[in-house]
Amino acid sequence: MTMLRAETRIALPDPAAVLRPLCEHLLEHEAEIGEADGVTMIRFGGSRTELRADSGALSVVIEAPDLAQLQGSKIAIASHVVEFSPEGAAPAINWSGDGAEPMLPPDFRVLTVTGVEQLTPHMRRIRFRGDDLAHYDSLEALHVRLFIPPAGLAEPAWPMIGADGLLQSLPPEQRPAIRKYTIREIDVAAGTLAIDFVLHDDAGPGSAFAAGVQIGDRIGMAGPGGRGLKQAERYLFLADETGLPALARMLAHLPAQARGLALIEIADANERQPLPLPEGFDVRWLHRDGVAPGSTTLLVDALATLDWPPGEGSLYLWAATEHTAFREIRATARQHLRPGIDEHLVVSYWRAGLAEEQHMAEKKQAAKAA
Ligand SMILES: Cc1cc2nc3c(=O)[nH]c(=O)nc-3n(C[C@H](O)[C@H](O)[C@H](O)COP(=O)(O)OP(=O)(O)OC[C@H]3O[C@@H](n4cnc5c(N)ncnc54)[C@H](O)[C@@H]3O)c2cc1C
Repeated sequence: MTMLRAETRIALPDPAAVLRPLCEHLLEHEAEIGEADGVTMIRFGGSRTELRADSGALSVVIEAPDLAQLQGSKIAIASHVVEFSPEGAAPAINWSGDGAEPMLPPDFRVLTVTGVEQLTPHMRRIRFRGDDLAHYDSLEALHVRLFIPPAGLAEPAWPMIGADGLLQSLPPEQRPAIRKYTIREIDVAAGTLAIDFVLHDDAGPGSAFAAGVQIGDRIGMAGPGGRGLKQAERYLFLADETGLPALARMLAHLPAQARGLALIEIADANERQPLPLPEGFDVRWLHRDGVAPGSTTLLVDALATLDWPPGEGSLYLWAATEHTAFREIRATARQHLRPGIDEHLVVSYWRAGLAEEQHMAEKKQAAKAA
């Protein structure tokens, strides 16, 4: 097999002090790392990276079977060299060899809107066409980051990888907003996918895009990410409208003998939608009936009325909700972990009163504090 090759020599005052944490960090991302004769070797998928720390520089050579893996390794090395360099000493990086010209990141696709379907008064399904979607067809990673260009831009601009192997920042007036959404359906052979958008008050870029969408509009997509469906004998799912697309996709892929319960908070009976339920599954729709989203205890109260441990067999609890409900559900899940719940994934999908950027910043701060 012919391998592609890229190389760079990065001037650093203490290259070993950057190489050490970089290797430790990539180990956490399941890279294979070895060392021989002063050369550090990192294997990631089909790509091989050699790093040599000598006096005043880190020399890097990457070989990979295709451009996507070559660019993925370049981003991983360049971004972590920057991250682990001393503060204020941003090193100059310049790659030569294959893939040196600016290009889209390997996990980035441009999607074009092909159809719009109003599922319920506040849930809109948007269908997209895109190239080379196989990478996104995974039940283990259901979510993507959507890049939503500012409204009214004649030609959307996308983040490119520059000659330094890093994502180039765009001028603010062209910069897309980034929002997380779930792939609800995907057909790799047809090159299509569908995403269900909640149309909410105080619309940010995600909801506003869905509300005003036109056939032919383009957005960007990167990912996929997150954790997905686990094997268990029984399932307990909790979701509000934002978690409903992921819940519905998981339900559609459960084995016919799966047993469980889905508790779903929605605005009112008009927001119910048909779900692909295995026979042994129950669903309870919890209506807010005029109360604002993100301000009820419907899910938490419903959870509190269940008996623990509810029935026999391994139990997986999955929940995706607004932040306040998320905190309470997570506390309950932790309290009942083994015996009771075998595994759980409880995630805050949005936070009342905060746009996604502020929500993410708070999540990071909380993780740091923990
Ligand atoms: C992994 C993951 C997967 C997700 N999948 C989906 C999905 O498939 N479909 C989907 O619709 N959402 C999904 N979400 C939630 C979505 O990312 C957030 O609701 C996001 O804030 C919407 O962006 P926005 O630009 O519309 O609003 P923002 O600019 O983020 O926020 C503007 C204002 O709207 C409020 N707000 C945000 N979301 C809601 C809401 N749902 N109801 C009421 N007020 C709201 C905020 O509190 C803020 O005050 C997902 C989130 C995560 C983390």
